[in-house]
Amino acid sequence: MGRFAPSPTGPLHAGSLVAALASWLDARAAKGTWLVRIEDVDTPRCISGADQTILSQLAQCGLHPDEPVVWQSRRGALYQQALDSLVAQGLAYPCACSRKEIEAAQLALGHAKERHAALPYPGTCRQGLHGRSPRAWRFNTTDFYQKVAPAPTPQAPTAINSEANFLPWTDRRLGRQVQDVVSAVGDFVLKRADGLWAYQLAVVVDDAAQSVTHIVRGEDLADNTPRQILLQKALGLPTPAYLHTPLVLDVNGEKLSKQNGAAAVDLSNPLVALNQAAQALGLPAVADSHHISVFDALAHWVQAWSRIYNDAP
Ligand code: GLU
Repeated sequence: MGRFAPSPTGPLHAGSLVAALASWLDARAAKGTWLVRIEDVDTPRCISGADQTILSQLAQCGLHPDEPVVWQSRRGALYQQALDSLVAQGLAYPCACSRKEIEAAQLALGHAKERHAALPYPGTCRQGLHGRSPRAWRFNTTDFYQKVAPAPTPQAPTAINSEANFLPWTDRRLGRQVQDVVSAVGDFVLKRADGLWAYQLAVVVDDAAQSVTHIVRGEDLADNTPRQILLQKALGLPTPAYLHTPLVLDVNGEKLSKQNGAAAVDLSNPLVALNQAAQALGLPAVADSHHISVFDALAHWVQAWSRIYNDAP
């Protein structure tokens, strides 16, 4: 079971078409089901009507979901259940810190000012709010390793360099990856101070609720994967297989994204756009875009996909 999970923050651009096509090909090559889920939890970033635009762009490219599309904005009850379960296990806690307070605490820890954005949350509220009002909910990464992750044993000792907190995972294209979630991101947000659900929690809950077994998405999301695997383990959910696809860069070498205003993919001839997306995935372009149907081109790429990605070690 695969899925494409766009945020409706703008129309599909050449980069998001790559992720859409790759996830569709992967599902088809495995004779599986392909779902589309609209990830509209970050409402201030969503653009009205972008969901319908994306769905019609997908249809123009012959990428039709096998089941009804779901919208995350209607699934808050599921995310609340997951948060309740984490709270009950002592793995989520309320946080009263404003952005300014977090920066001040990071400075106090001796971190250079300009690096704040990339620094982990300093853990201020981990031991309680001390009378302050809760704003957000955070995942307790430190406690996760103590309570959920198996402690090293003499038979399976912790790897050299004390990688106790390193979470190795294997991407089908990028190979073995490691990230120490505690020092790289720290106690990340599950529910935001503005009351909105965080992507990390919503995506994990939905992938499990929809029985997604194979996640294929852009490489810019690869470093979110360890956080998602921690949440899966904490919630007792299976971890899907992951494949992160190459990013499409603009003329300045920047990743195409809706935030930096990437143009909608030109679908005046869907095969031209699909050919470009296929080539970004290392698949052979189909010759003479004007005389082959989208249907036939997709079938051709399903075969090629199986050879390149499914036979990979
Ligand atoms: N909604 C995310 C995005 O559009 C993708 C999430 C995912 O595929 O896990 O960037």
